Amino acid sequence: MAIVSNYSQDEHQLIIQDLKNKFSWALWSRYIIAAFAIVLIYLGLISDAYMQYSLGLVTFLITYNIIAHIISLVKTKYSLWQITTLAIIFQVFDIISITVLIYITGWLDSPFWYLYLVLIVFSGFGMFSYYSFTVFLIAICSAVFYTGLLFSAYIGIFPLYGPSFNLTPNELLISINNKAVFTLASFFIFASTIYYFSKLLAEHRAELSRKNYELLKTMEEMKDIDRMKDEFVSTASHELRTPLSVARENMSLIKDGVIGDVNEQQKKLLSTSLTNVDRLSGILNNLLDLSKIESRSLDLFPQINDLGEMAKKAIELLQEKADHKKIKFELYCPQPVNTLVDPDQILRVFINLIDNAIKYTEKNGKITIGVESTDNKAIAYVSDNGKGIPKKDFSRIFVRFSRLSDFDEPAEKGSGLGLSICRGIVEMHHGKIWVESEFGKGSKFIFTLPKVGEKK
Ligand code: ADP
Repeated sequence: MAIVSNYSQDEHQLIIQDLKNKFSWALWSRYIIAAFAIVLIYLGLISDAYMQYSLGLVTFLITYNIIAHIISLVKTKYSLWQITTLAIIFQVFDIISITVLIYITGWLDSPFWYLYLVLIVFSGFGMFSYYSFTVFLIAICSAVFYTGLLFSAYIGIFPLYGPSFNLTPNELLISINNKAVFTLASFFIFASTIYYFSKLLAEHRAELSRKNYELLKTMEEMKDIDRMKDEFVSTASHELRTPLSVARENMSLIKDGVIGDVNEQQKKLLSTSLTNVDRLSGILNNLLDLSKIESRSLDLFPQINDLGEMAKKAIELLQEKADHKKIKFELYCPQPVNTLVDPDQILRVFINLIDNAIKYTEKNGKITIGVESTDNKAIAYVSDNGKGIPKKDFSRIFVRFSRLSDFDEPAEKGSGLGLSICRGIVEMHHGKIWVESEFGKGSKFIFTLPKVGEKK
């Protein structure tokens, strides 16, 4: 219910804003029409006989338009009926202007009667999309003014102009009747058609806005759920870390014989437990970091650093692990590549990628690490000749907790968080990360970072 009422309030405000925009659009259109008329008068294109009327009409148009302009400047907040009434009032002035124009440009023979239709179309589609029925008010007003003009000139209230006055009074009356019937019929056909379509349009628009609103609401809710989930993961990981480190400390003391003698079998069991506890606390740390990265609350401390130096450092840290599998490292780094990054975080990306390469490469394999630069980007890669990754899994492996379990050895199994952390860190530095691989032949993980201009 709350959603619906909020929705209609928002929708109401949108319609008011829309009408305000159209009101000011009409203001500027009238100024342009007045300017155009002044140019015509100045160029002498209006005959002297109508000069006075023409000047009077332009003055009238500019005057009521200025009044409308002042009102729009003074009053900035409207209710829907206020802005609609204002729009109707100034359109009645427009109808008066059109009527005067018709009078001075040939009365019954004036071609400008179609301007009423233009006004009906504009008011129907433009001004009154909410109160569609008001288009009939404009049609009625146009009819009253037009027929009023025709008949009042005929009975002699206004002096007559135009070729129609060569007709006999009887012929003139027939002509007036014909014109009046034809014009009024067009007014009401136009008004009804526009009313129908404008209603249809308004309904579609309302439906569209409602759906849009619901979509936004759902997205908001999903964001809330995501935030709650992040908070839960972060709190749970945080709370689990302390008891886990106490358990680890105690196990370690027992294993080292500080509490009393421990036989070989007990030691072996304790070692396995300690390895698992370490793995668990690694996962918890990764989870905590990932939730910080995803909520963009991980603090970065950027400094200008050579990317090659970070790659070298990661290689040094993992050298022992690679030696165990007799895996050889090759570093390709022809020249320094300066980047403005948090060195600890980018080192972590290198460590994760190289660690994966070691994990997923057979004994005696080879891992190549490279750092290059283009005009505006630093590019780093870690490539191996290991088991590779099937193409269909390229995007999946960067999603948290995804592991290609069909292919991983049980001993190699990780948490499936490493690559999502890498992606988060690289993206926080406005870079990109992706993988190229041929299944069974090896993989190449590539990431880019914005480069800092070389110092001279
Ligand atoms: P994990 O902790 O499981 O290694 P990651 O997010 O680092 O988690 O990697 C996700 C999955 O991507 C891994 O389980 C593995 O299947 C695959 N993978 C990552 N790096 C490589 C690689 N160099 N070669 C082959 N597969 C890889």
